[in-house]
Amino acid sequence: MERYSRQMRFHGVGEAGQKKLLASRITLCGCGALGTVLANTLVRAGVGFVRIIDRDFIEHHNLQRQVLFDEDDVASNLPKAEAAANKLRRINSEITIESIVTDIDHTNIVDFVKDVDLVLDGTDNFEVRYLVNDAAIKLNKPWVYGGAIGSVGQTMTIIPGQTPCLRCVVEASPAPGMADTCETAGVLSPTINVIASIQATEAIKILTGHLEAINRDLVYIDVWDNEFRRFKISKLKDKVDCPCCKQHNFEWLEGKMGVHTTSLCGRNAVQVAHRTANQLNFGTLAEVLKGVSQGEVTHNKFMLRFAADGHDFTVFPDGRAIIKGTSDIDRAKTLYAKYIGH
Ligand SMILES: [Zn+2]
Repeated sequence: MERYSRQMRFHGVGEAGQKKLLASRITLCGCGALGTVLANTLVRAGVGFVRIIDRDFIEHHNLQRQVLFDEDDVASNLPKAEAAANKLRRINSEITIESIVTDIDHTNIVDFVKDVDLVLDGTDNFEVRYLVNDAAIKLNKPWVYGGAIGSVGQTMTIIPGQTPCLRCVVEASPAPGMADTCETAGVLSPTINVIASIQATEAIKILTGHLEAINRDLVYIDVWDNEFRRFKISKLKDKVDCPCCKQHNFEWLEGKMGVHTTSLCGRNAVQVAHRTANQLNFGTLAEVLKGVSQGEVTHNKFMLRFAADGHDFTVFPDGRAIIKGTSDIDRAKTLYAKYIGH
């Protein structure tokens, strides 16, 4: 307990609160910018079980803001969840860290949420957030939303039955091309640190049983223009006939919403998810691709990389691919079909 002594000295935690943290289980959806700050903070705080889910791999331009990664991780071609877990185990070996390299979708989200006390949003896309929202409301689990682009960030805390849910506040996700992305607006690292730090504090409050202290507003910050605002949203819970928390119509969870291709925030790239019953055999695939690849086909346990038609492909064992050099989903699907198959 010595390592947590300064945290226990804080009146809101104490020894009893620390024991609750150590007995707590959380799922962290996404381990990029927000996710690495969340994981770093909560692993150090002594949350007993931390599940980290991320679909992506580490690139050089992530190092500006994704605090758990370094140049060696980029060179080793590691998935983010794996690299984060390696580092986090060196930070705190006394807790359990589970890393999962996959795309969160309606078929797996319930499994990731059902056995934890709290879910944290470290993603950059609304599809996953609506999935988390549906699963959290259905399974009665609290979750903390966070988002950051440019110098602007937002966060809200959702306690099922007590606060409005994400769909009470934002009924539908912005249409493609209608919202800024990290690609168009960029992102400042401090924006992320502030938002993730608020989210992590909310997690500590919830896990230590201090619901009276949680944020019940939508917090909006602009670290460049020095704006710090709180939107009073608590009344929405009674005013809105929310499809999720009122009607219990879990459209995202039922797979009625959402697509299997995703344009990746901050990059000229598309992910094509193509689930296969078995794991891909990279050895066989590499042989096939040798003839078409512009340059070397490389693979390790976690991913296979090649280049074709002027695009860089990264393929994962579950059949997903990230295709760089296009933001056109149809083009990406075509390229996928052309080189990876079915
Ligand atoms: Zn709602």
